[in-house]
Amino acid sequence: MSKFVCTECRASYPLEEPRWRCDCGGVLDIDFQPVFDPTRIKRRKPNMWRYREAIPLEDNAFITSFEEGFTPLTEVMIDGKAVFIKQDQLFPTGSYKDRGASVLISKVKELGIKEVVEDSSGNAGSAIAAYCAQAGIGCHIYAPENTSAGKLAQVQFYGAELHKIPGTREDTAQAALLAAEKIYYASHAWNPFFFHGTKTFAFEISEQLGWKSPDTVILPVGNGTLLLGADIGFRELLRAGILDRLPRIIGVQAENCAPLYRAYQENRAEVPPIETKETLAEGIAIARPARGRQIIDAVRQTGGEFITVSEDEIRKALVEICGQGYYIEPTSAAAIAGVKKYLPGSSQGEVIVSAFTGHGLKATEKMLKLISRP
Ligand SMILES: *Cc1c(COP(=O)(O)O)cnc(C)c1O
Ligand SMILES: [Zn+2]
Repeated sequence: MSKFVCTECRASYPLEEPRWRCDCGGVLDIDFQPVFDPTRIKRRKPNMWRYREAIPLEDNAFITSFEEGFTPLTEVMIDGKAVFIKQDQLFPTGSYKDRGASVLISKVKELGIKEVVEDSSGNAGSAIAAYCAQAGIGCHIYAPENTSAGKLAQVQFYGAELHKIPGTREDTAQAALLAAEKIYYASHAWNPFFFHGTKTFAFEISEQLGWKSPDTVILPVGNGTLLLGADIGFRELLRAGILDRLPRIIGVQAENCAPLYRAYQENRAEVPPIETKETLAEGIAIARPARGRQIIDAVRQTGGEFITVSEDEIRKALVEICGQGYYIEPTSAAAIAGVKKYLPGSSQGEVIVSAFTGHGLKATEKMLKLISRP
């Protein structure tokens, strides 16, 4: 039987309970037996629901979807090397967060929940709001006051109630937690159903490479929704005997907000409290990631590492990528800046995958500010 399992105390709970964390305060995972049938998968429509039997939902009737996913895996030249880039800026709401939102809101609908709350620096909020709009579920989005206007407009047009919170990203999280005492918390950081959506990132890459694992996956990381999703997905394929090894997972953080890098460098199991500065990479500016220990474990266990990138390196990567005709937001450029740092030490023929995680059109006023600088 599938169930929630606590990563701290190992307590388990039925998946029919509307819960997002353990009674002990620990983060939950889902214990679940995914099924893959490549022949059947191949005949299905090109979207993330082609892996239906690997997604922990009971009833197809509640699936909330815009037929998202199966984004192109495109070879992009970076510093003279061809790197596979998953074009996840092409999702319906403009970021890969739709993977998680589609599965989580489907589950919320299956549970009969009528209203949710979520906090976000923008993209997760717009994704949750869009899927709630389709599902007919009431939605409250908490976001920091300084979030990109494009993302906030999206949230409101999808019909969600927007709560702008002054102060830091952590202040926003606090405000949402308070609201979550009364309303179901559809949190991308806490709720494990979200991660069982983002894991389709790994399924798609593996299938697009001919059911093979890449050597290295380089991803931006704050709360780890993409990084941990990828880790779950690759592990499920390995356990199912479809892959014969796991890729190295490399996490990229902004120098100005790099708690995971710090913990990794100092060989700690837990994420230490850190001082942060503002960064162009607003989507990964997370000082206290709820799943910090899991993220560090995933990176360590796959033989990966953490890389930090400066504001200048992010800006440079953004200009270079947009100059090739790909319009991405600054947070996505952080990952590419990480790729640029990683490449000189990579080996001949190494299959490297990264992602464009969010669309540039979501951050127009931030993009404009970057143009006006020398
Ligand atoms: C959410 C997001 C990420 C990854 O953030 P996590 O906090 O690790 O989940 C990266 N890029 C963009 C554009 C995002 O919206
Ligand atoms: Zn527990």
